[in-house]
Amino acid sequence: MSETAGSETAGAPTPVPVRTIISPSRYVQGPGAITRLGEFLAPIGSSPLIVADDIVWGFVGHDVESSLKAAGLPVRKEKFNGIPTAVEIDRLVDVIKETGADVVVAVGGGSTIDAVKASGFLAGIRWVTVPSVASTDAPTSALAVVYTEEGAFEEYRFFPRNPDLVLVDSQLVANAPAAFLAAGVGDALATWLEARATSRSNSNTMAGGLPTLAGTALAQLSWDVLWENALPALDAVRDHLVTPSVEKVIEANTLLSGLGFESGGLAAAHAIHNGLTAAPQAHGLAHGQKVNIGSLTQLILEGAPTSDIRDFIEFTTRVGLPTTLTEIGLSVDDTDVLQLVAREATVPGETIHAMPFEVGAADVVSALKSLERLSRRVRDEAGLAAPELYHAKH
Ligand SMILES: [Zn+2]
Repeated sequence: MSETAGSETAGAPTPVPVRTIISPSRYVQGPGAITRLGEFLAPIGSSPLIVADDIVWGFVGHDVESSLKAAGLPVRKEKFNGIPTAVEIDRLVDVIKETGADVVVAVGGGSTIDAVKASGFLAGIRWVTVPSVASTDAPTSALAVVYTEEGAFEEYRFFPRNPDLVLVDSQLVANAPAAFLAAGVGDALATWLEARATSRSNSNTMAGGLPTLAGTALAQLSWDVLWENALPALDAVRDHLVTPSVEKVIEANTLLSGLGFESGGLAAAHAIHNGLTAAPQAHGLAHGQKVNIGSLTQLILEGAPTSDIRDFIEFTTRVGLPTTLTEIGLSVDDTDVLQLVAREATVPGETIHAMPFEVGAADVVSALKSLERLSRRVRDEAGLAAPELYHAKH
């Protein structure tokens, strides 16, 4: 992904470099929005298949059913089994074909959403996402991350289009534990750091071309909105309240970060996240928690100003995100595991090669090991305790 669109491939004609941005056809957000799902779904398909796990369905099943019925749509629901593996995706494709559905609707977290996007594409029908939490920027994108049964990163799958509809019920998001929103802030803060690196190196983005000004600007807006609103939004969500700050953070985590990462570009932070999925010690952590370690590691690799690094550690500690190896179940003595993580983060094709300079596995190991003392000292100087880490796996 570090290759610019103009780079030579043996035997193939050199493609003309282009700038591009992609997005869902419609994004809808507001408290109670799920009661209007049927209305927004009806123009897309007449035979929807809803995919949700039992916990999420317990919260929203009633509203989804009455909304679809009011729009004259049949209600068919399939249970999602927990991890977006190749096997689970193929199983959902079979269900889609058996039911004759013409649109598949993911209601749930990032894992449900990734599995549904991949199965909708393989079955040749349209797909819609209804995130129940704002813990990742998966809902808007035209790609899915496929994992092994053990939860390790396996591959990115790219699709020719984004969801036809992304519908977010802000009250539903505010009803979930605040740890989900905090994890989403971790995922979304990375967006600007990675888009900035991609812009500096003039690399291709996940959208299949060079970044547009629009993609890069949305990534930066996501960062600005979060620094201004993340802490008051988390206060409100702890009491399950929807305030203007909560609405802004949901939009930043979902829409701005979703468009920003996909069309602004990924770099080191997500590559290091992908590497961390190879460490069994980190499996209990949410995507955004591991991404936060990736963001901090990227800042260190960049030689970012010390004040920027300090601010990032302080702010993300206040958000409740991990900044030390200890908080992700590792230590500086786990050299073998850290070398494995670094090897996976730097394999050919990983987005770390979109950084504006070469990054090798040894650089990643050193940067990761340096987190421990650095973050502890910064927190001590700021009088901050280690964050309380909640289980927020989606
Ligand atoms: Zn992410």
